Amino acid sequence: MAGKKDYVNSNVTANREQLEFHVKEILKLIGENVEREGLLETPARVTRMYEEIFSGYEVDPREVLGVTFDEQHEELVIVKDIVYYSQCEHHMAPFFGKAHIGYIPSGKIAGLSKLARLVDAITRRLQVQERITSQVADIMEEVLKPNGVMVVVEGEHLCMCARGVKKTGSKTVTSAVRGEFRTNAALRSEFLSLLKQ
Ligand code: ZN
Repeated sequence: MAGKKDYVNSNVTANREQLEFHVKEILKLIGENVEREGLLETPARVTRMYEEIFSGYEVDPREVLGVTFDEQHEELVIVKDIVYYSQCEHHMAPFFGKAHIGYIPSGKIAGLSKLARLVDAITRRLQVQERITSQVADIMEEVLKPNGVMVVVEGEHLCMCARGVKKTGSKTVTSAVRGEFRTNAALRSEFLSLLKQ
C-alpha cells in the first residue's frame, strides 16, 4: 500500500521564486532575450501555471475521496467524461482527455464530484497515462473497497503530435480492471457500452 509520501511530496507555491528564476534561465538558454516585452512576465506566468497544473503534488488523492456514504446500492455506478489535463513525465508536454470510472459499491459510495477531484489529484502531476489509469483504480479500491472497479482513460499527447512520430489527433486509450470486472466479461461490456451513449 502506498504511503502518504508517494503522493504528497512538493509545494510548488513555496518554491515560486526559484521557479521563476529557473524559467528565466531556460529562456536564456534557448537563445531568447528575456528583456523583450513579450517575455518580461513569462517566468511569473509559467510559474502560476505550474502552481495549477502541478497542484496534485499537494494533495493526497485518497483524502479527496475520503468522505463516503454508506449505501446499499450494489449496482454499477459510472461517472464518465471527466476531463483532465496532465503533463507527460518524459517531455513535460501536455496530454489531456477524458477519464471514465465505473464501480460496483459494496456498502460505500463516494460523492460523484469527488471522483472528478480524484482524477484532478492524480493528473495534476508529471504522469504517464498508464499510471493515471491504474492509480485511479487502486485508490478507488483502497478507499471504497468496492466489488469491482473499471477505469478507462483516453488521451491525446502533444509530445506525440509535436515531435517524433507527428501523429495529430491519434488517441491513446488505457484501461484498468479490478475485482469483479476482471472475471466478468458481461460487466466489462456493459460499462463500455454505457460509455458510448
Ligand atoms: Zn511525452
